[in-house]
Amino acid sequence: MKVLKIDHLGIAVNSIDEGKNFWSDVLGLKFEGSETVAEQKVTTAFFPVGESEVELLESTAPDGPVAKFIEKKGAGFQHVAFRVENIDEALAELKEKGIKLIDETPRIGAGGAKIAFLHPKATNGVLVELCQRD
Ligand code: ZN
Repeated sequence: MKVLKIDHLGIAVNSIDEGKNFWSDVLGLKFEGSETVAEQKVTTAFFPVGESEVELLESTAPDGPVAKFIEKKGAGFQHVAFRVENIDEALAELKEKGIKLIDETPRIGAGGAKIAFLHPKATNGVLVELCQRD
């Protein structure tokens, strides 16, 4: 598997409107607009930082994965996403190594990227996302 870079850091917020102030007003990052991924019950907002981005995640429903995360752990850092050259190959390699996956096959995330999550049990507690952008 070839990991190219940290694609983005995912941060769970109760509200993008409130959460974005720190990132845009205090740090001066550019707010590139938000996008709702209905299937994941989440609205995302991206702030590019050099080669990577900060992704804010706001749940659109009380039973969505981000709402459940906030309920359990509170708002804050949620996942790290690594960009890989080929996500199908990466997942096949991880499966072969017996790494527990949340997504056995890639799905489509914000910005049309192919994404898949690894299970935090396999990563010492960190939610890891792989993503491939063509
Ligand atoms: Zn993400």
